[in-house]
Formats: sequence, C-alpha cells, structure tokens
Amino acid sequence: EGKLQLVQKHIRAFPDFPKKGILFRDICPILKSPAALTAVTDLFEEHVRNHYQQVDLIIGLDARGFLFGPLLAQRLGVGFVLVRKKGKLPGTTVCVAYDLEYGTAEVEIQEDAVAPGQKVLIIDDLLATGGTLYAACELMKKQQAEVLGCMVVIQLKDLNGADRLKPHGVFSLLQY
Ligand code: 5GP
Repeated sequence: EGKLQLVQKHIRAFPDFPKKGILFRDICPILKSPAALTAVTDLFEEHVRNHYQQVDLIIGLDARGFLFGPLLAQRLGVGFVLVRKKGKLPGTTVCVAYDLEYGTAEVEIQEDAVAPGQKVLIIDDLLATGGTLYAACELMKKQQAEVLGCMVVIQLKDLNGADRLKPHGVFSLLQY
C-alpha cells in the first residue's frame, strides 16, 4: 500500500549502533519528510478509529514516542501524556523499574496525569524486547488506567516483544 511504502522508504538501518551486533533502525528520515510523517499519523489514526470506540489519552514514551504521539493525539482530539526516564518530571511522580541488558532503568509519570478508569493507548517508535512498553503498561496499572493497546512504527519480530506485553496487543506499521 502507498502510505506504508512511503513510511518504509524513510527508515534507515545502521549496523553496529549503539554497539557491535545491533542493527539500529533510524526513524529520523520520517521526521524530515512531511509526507512520510503524515502517512505515519494517518495509519495510526485509521487503526485507532477502526478498533476503538473511545480513547481518552495517548501515552508517549521517552523520547521518540514524543515525536509521533502528540500528532496522533491531536488528530483524535485527545490529550497526550509523557512517560519519562526518571528524574525529568516535576511534582509528585509514580515510578516503575525495568530490566535492561545490563542493570535496570526507571520510567515515571506525573501522579495526576492519568485518572483511574481512563482508556489509554501507549505509543513508541519501536518495539524490541518490550521492556520499555511493559514498564509503561505497569505504570498505567498503578494509575488504574485501562490500557487499550500499544502502538509502534516498527516491531522487531525476532525479539518477541509482543509476547512480553500480553494480554495487551501491539499494533505496528512495519515488522522486521
Ligand atoms: P525494548 O524496551 O522494547 O527492548 O526497546 C525499545 C526502546 O528502545 C524504544 O524506546 C526504542 O526507542 C529504543 N530502541 C531500541 N532499538 C532501537 C532501534 O533499532 N531503533 C530505534 N529507533 N529505537 C530503538
């Protein structure tokens, strides 16, 4: 399909970044192309409108979820909330730790950002192991929000991130 091909044409792969053995998928060309960025937003919007009656908030992950999330939220006429790496948000926050390849990291949101019962969709640029999106789902659980699903531009199939996110579903525009 046209839009999907346009998006695909604007993703580059860099071998051995950020370290040897990793093939990094770079989404920067999407942002540089108004047509490709519009196509991403169109495809996300179509998916949401076809699958969900009501969405209250789009939740975006630090940092590339911040690039796509607000555009989608504006299209849907709903708010956007940031999940940030620890230490970046003012006021009272709620925090969840998650495992990295070496050690752990923490993500947090402002305590008053999401109300109990709100229906949310979580967005990021890429799903790898699923650790980051899983932590965001846990944050939503702590806030008693209802996670409708997760959305990413790219899903790396071999890493089985979707299994880790069950029972929540993942929608991806492209799979590698
Ligand atoms: P996970 O937690 O699923 O293992 O990793 C996903 C997170 O790492 C996302 O926030 C994503 O931005 C980042 N990430 C990991 N690998 C890549 C990659 O190849 N390209 C991009 N753009 N982001 C990546």
